Formats: sequence, C-alpha cells, structure tokens
Amino acid sequence: MTSKHDKHQQRQEKIKQQVDEKVAQATIEKGLFLVITGNGKGKSTSAFGTVARAVGHGQKAAVAQFIKGGWECGERNLLSTHGVEFMVMDTDFTWETQNRDSDTAAAELVWQQAKQALRNDELDLVVLDEITYMINYDYIALDDVINAINSRPKEQTVIVTGRAAHRSLTELADTVSEVRNVKHGFDNGIKARKGIDW
Ligand code: ATP
Ligand code: MG
Repeated sequence: MTSKHDKHQQRQEKIKQQVDEKVAQATIEKGLFLVITGNGKGKSTSAFGTVARAVGHGQKAAVAQFIKGGWECGERNLLSTHGVEFMVMDTDFTWETQNRDSDTAAAELVWQQAKQALRNDELDLVVLDEITYMINYDYIALDDVINAINSRPKEQTVIVTGRAAHRSLTELADTVSEVRNVKHGFDNGIKARKGIDW
C-alpha cells in the first residue's frame, strides 16, 4: 500500500518534471511586454515594484505617468533619486474630463516623451502607467502605441497599466495579469492613505 507520504512524493516529482520541461523549453531571450489590468488595487504598485527590481540590478528604467502627474507619488519621490526618469502629465486631469482639448494636448506631450523612451536602447524598462485610459478616451492613438511597442529595442521591457486594457494590447502582450477587485476599503468609507494608495 502506498502511504500518503509516497503519494505526495510522487505528485511532487511529477510536478517537478513538468516544471523542468517548461524551463527547458523557455529559451527565448528578449524584453517582455506586460499588461497589468483589471478593477482591483495593485496595478501601478506592481509596475513600480518591477521598476524597483530592475533598478536593484543596476538596470535603467523610465516611467510615463498618465492622468495623475500632478499628484504626489511616493514611488516617484524614491525612484527619481535612483536615476529613474519620470514623464508626467502637466495637468489637473481627473477622472471627469474638464477640458478635452487641454487634456489631449497634455497626454500627447507625455506620449511624445514616452515614445523617445521606447526608442532608447539604454533603457531596460519603460512603464506606461494608466495609459489605457488615454487610449480608451482617444487622447492617444492605439495604432501609434502598438507601433511604438512593436518597434522598441529587443531587450527592452514595457509595462502598461490601467483598467480596461484594449484587446489589441492584451493580444500583443507576452504577459497579461488581471487584478480582480474582491473588496476595497474605500467602498467601506476608508480614506485613501499616504504610503498605501499613493
Ligand atoms: P495602486 O496604485 O494602489 O496599485 P491601481 O493602479 O491598481 O492601484 P488605479 O485604478 O490606478 O489602481 O487606482 C489608483 C487609486 O485608486 C489607488 O489609490 C487605489 O487604492 C485606488 N483603487 C484601486 N482599486 C480600487 C477599487 N476597486 N475601488 C476603489 N479604489 C480603488
Ligand atoms: Mg494605477
């Protein structure tokens, strides 16, 4: 009779074998395109966590922040002192559009800077934080974003964050994660907190 212990061991060995096979098959060396989308909390923090990871290895990263450029941001305070270039939207754009023309112009300006970053082969990582909204509102042309991502340097990784990522982006991406909202303290009246929410 096989004991529980033996069964467990057999299962683990099988899993190990499957993982080993997958590891052996993963031989492509290139920068990735990642999309982090969904309605839950954790998209931008995930992207910034990856910037910290890259910088910790001595790599070079740049971040374009769409929407919340004027807002305080703990990650920007920290990472900009570690050589990370930030491109931010110079507008008080909020979720309700105030002025479509000035918002489009502000988005376009950051996008032009982001495009430079996507051509710069010294950058290992480029984050396009909250760009999905700019695309969905038609402030930035989807095709232009797809082209810029497609023609970036081979070793460069790009991370796009934001809710409702366009299908063309998720189809093009190598890795897509959807953060699902199970619950959020805000819905129970807990105020956004410094160091947690920004
Ligand atoms: P974070 O920057 O904390 O990782 P995020 O990038 O996933 O959040 P955004 O849609 O960019 O989420 O929203 C940013 C702000 O909105 C943060 O302060 C975050 O706590 C808050 N937020 C995120 N998800 C929710 C939610 N489901 N309900 C209410 N507020 C939310
Ligand atoms: Mg975010």
